[in-house]
Amino acid sequence: MTHPIQEVLQRIGVNDHPVAVAVGNTWQAGASEALTGKSPIDGSTLVTLTQATPSDVDMVVATAQSAFWTWRNVPAPRRGEFVRLIGNALREHKADLAAIVSWEAGKITQEALGEVQEMIDICDFAVGQSRQLYGKTIASERPGHRLMEQWHPLGPVGVISAFNFPVAVWSWNAMLAFVCGDPVVWKPSEKTPLCSIACQQIVNNVARDFPEAPDGISSLLIGGADVGQALAAHPDLPLISATGSVPMGRAVASTVAGRLGLSLLELGGNNAMIVTESADLEMTVRSALFSAVGTCGQRCTSLRRLIVHNSIADKLLASLKKAYEKLPIGNPLDEGTLVGPLVDQRSLDAMQTALRTAEEQGGTVHFGNPINHDVPAGGCYVHPAIVEMPDQTEIVRQETFAPILYVIRYTELDEAIALHNGVPQGLSSSIMTNDIRQAEQFLSPTGSDCGIANVNVGPSGAEIGGAFGGEKETGGGRESGSDAWKAYMRRATNTINYSTELPLAQGIKFDL
Ligand code: NAD
Repeated sequence: MTHPIQEVLQRIGVNDHPVAVAVGNTWQAGASEALTGKSPIDGSTLVTLTQATPSDVDMVVATAQSAFWTWRNVPAPRRGEFVRLIGNALREHKADLAAIVSWEAGKITQEALGEVQEMIDICDFAVGQSRQLYGKTIASERPGHRLMEQWHPLGPVGVISAFNFPVAVWSWNAMLAFVCGDPVVWKPSEKTPLCSIACQQIVNNVARDFPEAPDGISSLLIGGADVGQALAAHPDLPLISATGSVPMGRAVASTVAGRLGLSLLELGGNNAMIVTESADLEMTVRSALFSAVGTCGQRCTSLRRLIVHNSIADKLLASLKKAYEKLPIGNPLDEGTLVGPLVDQRSLDAMQTALRTAEEQGGTVHFGNPINHDVPAGGCYVHPAIVEMPDQTEIVRQETFAPILYVIRYTELDEAIALHNGVPQGLSSSIMTNDIRQAEQFLSPTGSDCGIANVNVGPSGAEIGGAFGGEKETGGGRESGSDAWKAYMRRATNTINYSTELPLAQGIKFDL
């Protein structure tokens, strides 16, 4: 019997035997051993393909490099038109692509549809951006001179992505890169090969009818960490944008730095919510719930630490526990399910180990048990956990990529902010309060140290219009909206002398 995902893939134009390496419309098998893609929903085999190896990288990058020579000369608004058409194709295949995301990453349908919507949104954003790649004109200190800056295409961009946003993260990078004049070479997570094949096919379908799009504007290499390292080491990829765990980021960053390349890092988070005594508790429960258990706690922005004022902690905990008791956990494709599976057994084991460690460090664990009934056999389902902690112990300072919500109590806001910032990661954060002074303090230079800081909104579920990313071990990169596009271009500062004199800067005299 064929797997239901086959029909979905065929509607997008992916043939019966997907392979691991694509350079534009040319698909070929990789040179390595077989990779079997399994669904977290029920462990069913979705695809078997021969992976890419580092030896495949040179050929793919060379094609991307020659695509760059062509694409950088296509006017930016025309490059925007290419992205507009990709956005239309994504609208057409929204439900199909979301189904692949659900099958491969285990997301509930609503969240999978939301992920594809995010791709459509970044396409729209990038189309507008294609007419706004502005430089500045700067007052020159010399008479008869003009000083200005321009933004030029950078070169082929290497994108390494994680399993938990298997399509959106690529699109945040690729759509901006395309309008900025850069081809993209993508190494997706080996856990989500079909998502990447479907995206590559969608770009291919558009590129086929877009005369200026060179072969190799979009390439794909499905393989492991060794392929990621080969991209990081490649001198013809001026920028590597890498999304994933902190250890991966360290490995990629040091390789890229070794050749003095540029890296854009989007790494792990350990996101918190401070709940003050004036918070709207009903809103707090709803936003904490979505942020903590959405995507089964497998978002980089998932809520992992709830820092609650002593005076309301008991009441809030009771409401939260009540909500956790009722969580619909199960097949993410079923309507009404809010919590799907963890991605694999390793994740489940890591969660259980973290819960035991939290207990050893003084925590009281509520829920958190694996679930084996009323869920599809073959998947790793779990009841999200709430863990009351006496303090921010070592385990709380780590990112466990699973639905564990640590609850810590505080008395003074300064103490809460110190706890909040007292972790190595710095991605997303929030405060629930109706006190404007407390809200402003949280957003001030002495408040949250994260790249994202929200008021009366949970840390999870960012819009594409803002720059996305975080500080400290999260890596410092910014993607998506605002001026994140600048990472995909190179800045040239130009001085133009339209006078008949040759004055030097700083008034230097240098005449014979
Ligand atoms: P991971 O680090 O295991 O893998 C991510 C990608 O890096 C994969 O493509 C993998 O093959 C590759 N990779 C792994 N080791 C590598 C190495 N040494 N050199 C080159 N490439 C390597 O992460 P994951 O389990 O897929 O995803 C979960 C992690 O990603 C979490 O830590 C999460 O917080 C983080 N994440 C961060 C963001 C963000 O925007 N900040 C977004 C999504 C996920």
